[in-house]
Amino acid sequence: MPLVHSEVPEFVCLKCGRTLTVLTGFVGEEVRVPPPGAFSLCVYCGDLAVFTDDGRLREPYDFERIDMEQDPTVRNVQRVIKRIGAMKSDLTGERSEHDR
Ligand SMILES: [Zn+2]
Repeated sequence: MPLVHSEVPEFVCLKCGRTLTVLTGFVGEEVRVPPPGAFSLCVYCGDLAVFTDDGRLREPYDFERIDMEQDPTVRNVQRVIKRIGAMKSDLTGERSEHDR
């Protein structure tokens, strides 16, 4: 299944507060509204969330978070996001999202 990038209505990461406007995923086709139950992984901080029926984000239930965090792709992407954040911190001297 192809990796698809879609512009979606803005939504805000529940952890870092950054506004996200693009959805990337293995959804098979471009989408404007993420399907309810689809999960979100913030590209800035790596936090996980779940899309609701009205296209907003909510905190995942414990069983959802455990399920998502067991996915090797999710773990790898979170690891890369943390490394990028650490490299930015080293370059700028600023604290990364993960240090907060
Ligand atoms: Zn975030």
